[in-house]
Formats: sequence, structure tokens, C-alpha cells
Amino acid sequence: MKATLMYCAGDVRTEDVPDPVVERPTDALVQITTSCICGSDLWPYGSMAPADGPARMGHEFLGVVTDVGAEVAGLQAGDHVVAPFAYSDGTCAFCREGLYTSCVHGGFWDEPGQQGGQAEAIRVPLADGTLTKLPVAPDSALAPSLLTLSDVFGTGYHAAVWGGVTERTTVAVVGDGAVGLLAVLSAKLLGAERIVLMGRHEDRTGLGREFGATDVVAERGEEGVAKVRELTGGEGVHVVLEAVGARPAYDQSFGIVRPGGTISRVGVPQYEEAPVGFGSLFAGNVTLTGGPAPTRAYVETLLPAVLAGTVEPGRVFDRTVGLDGVPDGYRAMADREALKVLVTP
Ligand SMILES: [Zn+2]
Repeated sequence: MKATLMYCAGDVRTEDVPDPVVERPTDALVQITTSCICGSDLWPYGSMAPADGPARMGHEFLGVVTDVGAEVAGLQAGDHVVAPFAYSDGTCAFCREGLYTSCVHGGFWDEPGQQGGQAEAIRVPLADGTLTKLPVAPDSALAPSLLTLSDVFGTGYHAAVWGGVTERTTVAVVGDGAVGLLAVLSAKLLGAERIVLMGRHEDRTGLGREFGATDVVAERGEEGVAKVRELTGGEGVHVVLEAVGARPAYDQSFGIVRPGGTISRVGVPQYEEAPVGFGSLFAGNVTLTGGPAPTRAYVETLLPAVLAGTVEPGRVFDRTVGLDGVPDGYRAMADREALKVLVTP
């Protein structure tokens, strides 16, 4: 079968690899019907050392179960399923609290020994805990929106939930990538009436406005901070949803959060050290939260609105490629030519 491998920064290839097989009794095999390229795939695409490659790529997918191991109880061949970007047993202490990304037996796709979603098929470990059955056919027009439950919609929603967004909070979203735009949609779903989107790509912020952003701030750094403060009467916002992961986005976040507010990060931090002292978080009693979103926890919450068509998170996809087009899809996203690339194997 075909799969996507990243050899090093800037070098992504579609290659033939062995078909997946059931290796453990808790595995399922899934024929992938829809997948995509993630903004977080662009971090290794920009920096991966040759010694770390080749790595299987892709952590968002929908597909049809083709085989299950002897201990898989809740799935059978023919089931249409969505996978979250991390696999998990669904039964450990952390999974029972909904924190599936901290599962003691879990892990992430495309890490060593695991397979990737930008492929024709995949072996899914801990299938009962990981996969959710979908009540629509694989060729449903809803597929792009359903696919966002793997990662970007659930991740934006996680940022908003952990940030404590309610109808009483003003919100700023830092970043106009797919996660940022769906953080806007999530804040809207949780009732926020004032949502400031910080982003400078007009086609993206335009979609952000349709998802619920009331204000757009294109300026960055100190200028952007001043603009958000001006919009909020000098006070700042109650909740910042940080969906970038670069250090300047963090600096921007503590610049715009109001005293007593919360910074909720879901952009994968590309830094280990950042200010937490008097001049940043401490003086204003600011809470810093966030982390890898347990998107498995939000599938049931968000699915009804997707099925009903009252939200269309799949609008973040603006290009579709086959597996052979995946390398160019990475390039297009890295060049900011495409917002998010759908992959149909
Ligand atoms: Zn677990």
C-alpha cells in the first residue's frame, strides 16, 4: 500500500510500504477514506534532522474497519470510524477522566513503531478505546467536517473548554490556522459574544468572522497587544486561546490577557523557557493552562452539531489531493498557499 514518509525537513515522499496486519488482539485495521495534513506536521517539515527519518506521517483520519483482533469487542469489519490524533485504552485512570492524551497505555500516531494516517490503511492499537463509530456512510458529504473531530475542531474546543470560555467571557484567539479558526467556532459554541481573532491572512480571518469572530486584529507583537487592549477598554481579554505554539504567540498572549484571566495553549510549544514571573503571569493572577487535546473526549459532544450541519468545521479545508499529491500538499501549506489540505487516498 501507499503511505507518506518524511525523510527530513522539506523531504516528504509517497512510497510503497507493507500492508498493515493485526499484531495484537486489541488492534483493528482501518482502510483510510479521508485524511489530511496538519499544521503541526509543518514543524518537522521545517526542522526534522535526517537521523530522525524516515517517519510515517499523518494523525487525522476517517476510515472503514477491515479486520479486528480477537479482543476487540465494540467494532467490526465495515464500521465507519473516526480516529483521534492519539490512541488510548479508554479504561485507565486518566482516560476515565477524559484526559485521553495522558493514557498510560496510549501514544501518538507517527511516532516510532506506529503508522500514519496519510496512507491507504493503518493498524490502530487499542481500537476499542480509540475509535468512534460514525452513523453515516464513508462517502458522506460531511466527511471533511467529521475529519476535523480527529484533531483541529477538538483541539480548538479543548482550548476553549480549558480556558473556561462562557457567555460572560471575552476571548482572543491567537493564530488564524485551522485550529485558531476552530477555536473561534468553539468559543462561539460555548456562548462567547466577543471574540477577537489575531491573524493577518485575510482569507482566513474572513472565515474566522463567519465562524464567530467579532473583531480581527492583523497586527502582531506590541502593536497587536496595543490593539487588543484598545478594543477592550485597556483591560485585556478574559481568555486567550493560543493556537500557534511559537514563542512570540506566548508573549502576545500574556500581553493581552486581563488580570484574573486565563491563557489556554493548544499550539505545540516550540520553546521550553518563557516568562512566568511578575512581569508576565504573576502580577495579574493569570492562569496558564492547555496541552495536547484529548480530542477523543469531544467526539460525542461535537458530533451532533456536525451531523445536523449547524456547524461546518470542514470549511477549513481549501485543497484536496490524492496520496501522490501529499508532498506538494506539505509544500503548499508551508508556503501558506493552502490553509489545510484534505487527502483522499
Ligand atoms: Zn487510558
